[in-house]
Amino acid sequence: MRQHHRPGRVQPEPADQPAQPRGADLLPVHVQCGVAVLYDDAVALPRAQPVRGLLVPIGTERGIAWKDEPHHVVQIGFSQPPDQGRFQHVVRWGRDRAQPADLAGDESPGAERVEAQRRHARNRTGSPVSAPKPPRPLSAIEEPLASAYDVALLDLDGVVYVGPDAVAGAPDQLRTASDAGMRIGYITNNASRSPEAVAEHLRSFGLPAESEDVVTSAQAAARLVAAEFGAGSPVLVVGGEGIRAALEEYELREVRSSDDKPVAVVQGFAPEVDWVMLADGAHAINAGAKWFATNLDMTIPTSGGRAPGNGTLVKAVRAAVDVDPVVAGKPEPPLLTTSVERLDAKRPLMIGDRLDTDIAGANRAGIASLWVATGVDTAADLASAPPQLRPTYVAAGLAALTEPQPGVEVARGKHRCGGWEAIAAGGEVLLTGDGDRYDGLRALLSAAWAAADSGKAADVTEALGKLDARAG
Ligand SMILES: [Mg+2]
Repeated sequence: MRQHHRPGRVQPEPADQPAQPRGADLLPVHVQCGVAVLYDDAVALPRAQPVRGLLVPIGTERGIAWKDEPHHVVQIGFSQPPDQGRFQHVVRWGRDRAQPADLAGDESPGAERVEAQRRHARNRTGSPVSAPKPPRPLSAIEEPLASAYDVALLDLDGVVYVGPDAVAGAPDQLRTASDAGMRIGYITNNASRSPEAVAEHLRSFGLPAESEDVVTSAQAAARLVAAEFGAGSPVLVVGGEGIRAALEEYELREVRSSDDKPVAVVQGFAPEVDWVMLADGAHAINAGAKWFATNLDMTIPTSGGRAPGNGTLVKAVRAAVDVDPVVAGKPEPPLLTTSVERLDAKRPLMIGDRLDTDIAGANRAGIASLWVATGVDTAADLASAPPQLRPTYVAAGLAALTEPQPGVEVARGKHRCGGWEAIAAGGEVLLTGDGDRYDGLRALLSAAWAAADSGKAADVTEALGKLDARAG
């Protein structure tokens, strides 16, 4: 049985709902058609029941059961409540899109809708069925990362810049890594800007960047469409210039309206997306076009602060259609696999600040990853990360690219790195020793993750405090 304890983040069960099932108890739930169902935390794989004579095929891909047929019931048992924030859809008792099964209340779908769903199911290519395993978290490597890995896949915000400013030292550190033989690629979920516009922005920070060094989620989406439907296929754009440029690059033909019978709809954020575009996109999808979204980011950073991102606009369309989009951007694998292909990477290293997008995406694509502390997620987030969000390496920033990485030695419950030792005892992680702060963090993480994986979550508050005090 796998258990993902998240220390300090246990979610209370709502008083007005039945308790979460435990152990082998299975929970019958009604799941809307076209949703991806997380069963990673389930103690048993989903088992399907036919409802009103319909068959219930469920393909499984790396912890996700795709539900492509309407009005079915699956049974899922959770050992732990899943972490809803990490997945697009999570089946929970009375939450999200899943409710306790109520067969009497089910409306049988019309034959037309069933056929539309089947068509979509046959067409799905959203996730790789199999990917190589990434190196294990907190791996040791004796040579500098910049010579061990041939291409850096860099997330932008929180890694090379924060808002209007470059991350301190990043331009020099990237130049040094480049001198050491590592090629630098920049990858972004942002579909509104062309690679040249992104490169120009990066050059304004003094970063060495050309348009061919940049890969966007719009390119990843266009590549998916081209691979499935072929060059010259008609595509409807719910988005802007970034997507148009990507379609052109992959020799796809943009059409102006759902009346032009597009085979695919590609949706990505652009400031000019309006209701007419969203509505026409929905019409095309309901008429059978396959739906691709560049990403599901719920917010985007703007000069005025946070603003609604593509994920909100996808939800708007989703309200009017019966399927989910195939998603190109992080944490889905296509953006990373497209980047590997375009940058011709043999040994890529994904570098990011966010566990739920950058690191999760790297793990799903089977790519080694480096988490840096210059962005959104913190050491505390790392400590509570479930296995699929744990990076291969952790470091303060991009200076790590030209350094080797120490691993953690584990023996008899003791986790040692540099001058530090961490053990989990009495429900918390105890950290002793001295030396490099990140060696201390590695020892702490190793102990916290081992504790969580054995079902005995350990609190890291005090150990983290010790490291913070060290940082002065
Ligand atoms: Mg970031």
